Amino acid sequence: MQQKKTQQKPRRLFAKIVLSLILLVAIAGGFWFGLIPQSVSPFGTVSLDTRPMLFTDPKLSVLRFDSALCAAVLKEPHIDASPIPDRVSDNNCGWVNAVRFTRVGGAQIGVNPLTCETAAALALWVEHEVQPLAREMYGQEVVRLGDMGTYDCRNIVGNPLWKGVRSQHAAANAIDISGFTFADGRSITLLRDWTGKGRDSDFLHEVHRRSCRYFRVALSPDFNKAHANHFHFDRGLMWTCR
Ligand SMILES: [Zn+2]
Repeated sequence: MQQKKTQQKPRRLFAKIVLSLILLVAIAGGFWFGLIPQSVSPFGTVSLDTRPMLFTDPKLSVLRFDSALCAAVLKEPHIDASPIPDRVSDNNCGWVNAVRFTRVGGAQIGVNPLTCETAAALALWVEHEVQPLAREMYGQEVVRLGDMGTYDCRNIVGNPLWKGVRSQHAAANAIDISGFTFADGRSITLLRDWTGKGRDSDFLHEVHRRSCRYFRVALSPDFNKAHANHFHFDRGLMWTCR
C-alpha cells in the first residue's frame, strides 16, 4: 500500500507540470493572438508619450481588437489617426480595427489603412527611435517617410516556402518603408544607401535594428531580393528580425 502511494506521487507531479505548461502556453498564445483584453492584462497598454522599456509586445497586442483603446492610445501630437470601418472579405483579405493617418512621429506619410496595433508600433518606432537617432547623427529630424504601401490583397512574395500564404499586407497589418527625407530636403533610400559604409548606411542599419522591439517581423534588404528597396514591418504571428 505504502509503495503504491509513493508511485503515485511522481505521476501526480508530472501531471501538474504538464498542466502548468499547457496553461502557460495558452496564456502566451492569448497574448500572441491578441485575444487577452487590456482589462485583464498584467502588462497594461502602451502610451506613445514614452519609450516602452518592458513587455512591449503584449502591450501592443492588446490593441488588436479594442477600438476604444486604440482611440485612446493613437493620439496627437504623435499621430493624426482616424478610425475607419472594418472590412472583411471571404478571400482572406480585409482589415479589423484599422486607422488612416498622414503624420506620425513628426514625419509626413499617407497611410490608409493600417491596423491600430501596427500603427502604434510605427508611431513608437518613429518617435522614440528614428527621430532621436536622426537628431544625433544628422542634427535634424526626419520630415517624411518613404511609403511603399500597407494594404494589398496578395500572398507572401519572394519566398517559395510561403507560397500560397496570405501576406500580412492582405490584413492591412504591414507597412513597407522605402527611405527617409530630412528637414534639409535630403533623402536617403534603402535601395541606394543600405549597402556600403558611411553615415547613411549606419543610420538605416540602426533604425532597422531598433524596429525589432516594436514589430514582430522587421525585414531589411539583407532578408532577400524582394526587400532590396524597403523595410517590411508587420505585427502578424511570425517573428523575424533580419
Ligand atoms: Zn511588406
